[in-house]
Amino acid sequence: MKTGQTHLFIPGPTNVPDDVRRAMNIGQQDMRASDFGDLTIGLFEDLKQVFRTRTGEVFLLPGSGTGAWEAAITNTLNPGDKVLMARYGQFSDLWVQMAQRLGLEVEVIDVAWGAGVPVAEFERRLGADTRDEIKAVFVTHNETATGVVSDVAAVRRALDASFHDALLFVDGVSSIGSIDFRMDDWGVDLAVTGSQKGLMCPAGLGILAVSAKAAVAAKTSTMRRAFFEFEDMRAMNAGGYFPYTPPTMLLHGLRAALDRIFAEGLDEVIARHARLAEGIRRGIHAWGLDLVAEHPSLYSNTVSTIRTPDGVDAREVIRIAYDEMNTSFGSGLGRLAGKAFRIGHLGDLNEGMCLTALSIAEMALVRAGAQIPMGAGVAEAQRHFTGVATAQPRLR
Ligand code: PLP
Repeated sequence: MKTGQTHLFIPGPTNVPDDVRRAMNIGQQDMRASDFGDLTIGLFEDLKQVFRTRTGEVFLLPGSGTGAWEAAITNTLNPGDKVLMARYGQFSDLWVQMAQRLGLEVEVIDVAWGAGVPVAEFERRLGADTRDEIKAVFVTHNETATGVVSDVAAVRRALDASFHDALLFVDGVSSIGSIDFRMDDWGVDLAVTGSQKGLMCPAGLGILAVSAKAAVAAKTSTMRRAFFEFEDMRAMNAGGYFPYTPPTMLLHGLRAALDRIFAEGLDEVIARHARLAEGIRRGIHAWGLDLVAEHPSLYSNTVSTIRTPDGVDAREVIRIAYDEMNTSFGSGLGRLAGKAFRIGHLGDLNEGMCLTALSIAEMALVRAGAQIPMGAGVAEAQRHFTGVATAQPRLR
């Protein structure tokens, strides 16, 4: 029998704050009532602030990030369109697979798992595509499998440098609302997220922001779609309604979560994620372990993917933490299975929770056979969080 609090340090779903949970604990509601828009119209507007778009429109779909990927593709592209994508982790790989399954011609660039989007190679291919055959460029902003954040603004610059007209798709599932993301400034055309990460809600909503340029592309797109048709959503959303039964309780949760984000301030939320992530990373380095991310400029502020030492099975670290310490860490995905585990550090999080994550990871690593100095990671993170470099005991 497990006792005490369950600790969730996976990179989504994240911890749901009490006020968000309470906001969802309500009776069922008439989603066609005359006052339903009082809830939903504000959500569409406020989500624009999270995406940092003034000119884009936001769609909320029952589903998840994967559904929002599909909605983005099927509403704006045409069968057989050539698209440029890079694969550098499990989620960028899954996005490639979806694009292929939907009948796009995908030009895939494979780079190391631990690298980010290959901007120079994108620029080369876009520059060579003088007839604008590439219709869209895809970027996984934060690759949740490897803990790598990519430079979306640089991809926009690469498109502009080549005077290229392709749409820019961005997967922001584990970044939007936690890591700086700027839809308008970076010229992003389709930005995708879900409710269960930075937005601190349960899974169940795919969230998609669409630029004016993407909305124009949608008018002539001939890919097959039904449930995810933008036109149907737009027509109903204008009055605050949906062309299907919306998850009303989740929408109330989202209202409470957005209120939290705006009460703290979006810039402050992003700065908090950066501060907490740095403490986690310093702790990991104090163990003498490496991150999968190849360079500090690629370090993600929402998830750290940690390579276990040779001979230490990361699955065992995760098993010990879960079975013996009631704590979930993220597993190594795809080719990282057994070689890495992940600490998710996003959403409703503070210093104490980060220290708990490090402390339990240390114990699980040691129990799984890793030779790491127990306590070192926690102490290093404490130094970072307090700004006090040396903590000498005061002797009486
Ligand atoms: N993209 C990224 C970067 C993710 O981290 C995830 C889920 O973890 C997805 C896409 C898929 O999103 P969902 O599980 O909400 O469908």
